[in-house]
Amino acid sequence: MAKRMSTFKQAVQLIEQADTCLVVAHLNPDGDTLGSALALYHGLYLLRKHTVRLLCHDPVPEIYRFLPGSTAVETEQQPITVYDLALVCDMSQLNRAGRHEPLIRAARRIVQIDHHMPQEVFADVRLVDQSAAATAEIAYRLLRALRVPFTPEIATCLLTGIVTDTFSFKFPNTTPRTLRIAAHLQSCGASISEINEQVFETRSFSAVKLLGLALSTLKRTEDGRIAWAIIPRSAFEEAGASEEETEGIVNFVRSIHGVQVAMLLRESPNRKIRVSLRSRGAINVALIAQQFGGGGHENAAGCTLEMSLSEAEHALLHEVQKWMACSTSTNPSA
Ligand code: AMP
Ligand code: MN
Ligand code: MN
Repeated sequence: MAKRMSTFKQAVQLIEQADTCLVVAHLNPDGDTLGSALALYHGLYLLRKHTVRLLCHDPVPEIYRFLPGSTAVETEQQPITVYDLALVCDMSQLNRAGRHEPLIRAARRIVQIDHHMPQEVFADVRLVDQSAAATAEIAYRLLRALRVPFTPEIATCLLTGIVTDTFSFKFPNTTPRTLRIAAHLQSCGASISEINEQVFETRSFSAVKLLGLALSTLKRTEDGRIAWAIIPRSAFEEAGASEEETEGIVNFVRSIHGVQVAMLLRESPNRKIRVSLRSRGAINVALIAQQFGGGGHENAAGCTLEMSLSEAEHALLHEVQKWMACSTSTNPSA
């Protein structure tokens, strides 16, 4: 029996055959989706594709504008045209592409490059590896398979994805392979210290003010295992901050001694509640987020709720407590 072609080979073949390509990052973009999409965008340019569009529902947040090529990101809805190929980065559901979802669905072929817990099956070729710390690790392997030269620009984009999703190699998703890839990217001209400086060590005045307002709402359950903070619209207005400036706040909540699940709830201008969930240890917050139509990873997930802030607070707390009781009863040593 003929050996099945590996998914990477299939992806390489589709990319080699394509003339017109879309590269898509998820809404509320982070360093991983942008770094991966930009690296692939640069790679397709080096492969001399006729047309390459780089799309994201939301604009590039200030802290990621240092990424080479970030000005190429287009946010406006595009007229439906049939592209040969769509490369979809760091999403397990196509609704995470926001207004660009119909354009992706119209493409002749879709390749998914992702590391989330699988949800929707929407791609012809699925480069999905949950053991990858970042989608950028998988984009790295794809670009190697395509024999694209690792320019300093490509290396910086990929390393940013890895640095942001591992929280600078501090999260347990960091593996020896992550470090080997990071070392190679550094030798190709990317700088871990510069990426850290841009992403984690440079904050706007309004972002720090918002952090203070968010932390002033801090609460925890009596046993101290669940802690959360909320950001109502009024706090955004008081701080003069935007939604993107909430990045990283949930990690302060997670860092509290004894906390196993941390949550950050923020009220969007459309009155929807965006939620970030983080856990330490065995509690799988992706499964909790999925109960509310969201998704993510075992220790980092998110969802969006259409209810008031206090309703969302109650609904989430109830669900998290249920999962925690469950994980305790099935694991007596916990
Ligand atoms: P965040 O809390 O926004 O940093 O997101 C943590 C993880 O959960 C990331 O991997 C996101 O891609 C995922 N995630 C966040 N919000 C959602 C959502 N509404 N639906 C699906 N996945 C989400
Ligand atoms: Mn992401
Ligand atoms: Mn990611």
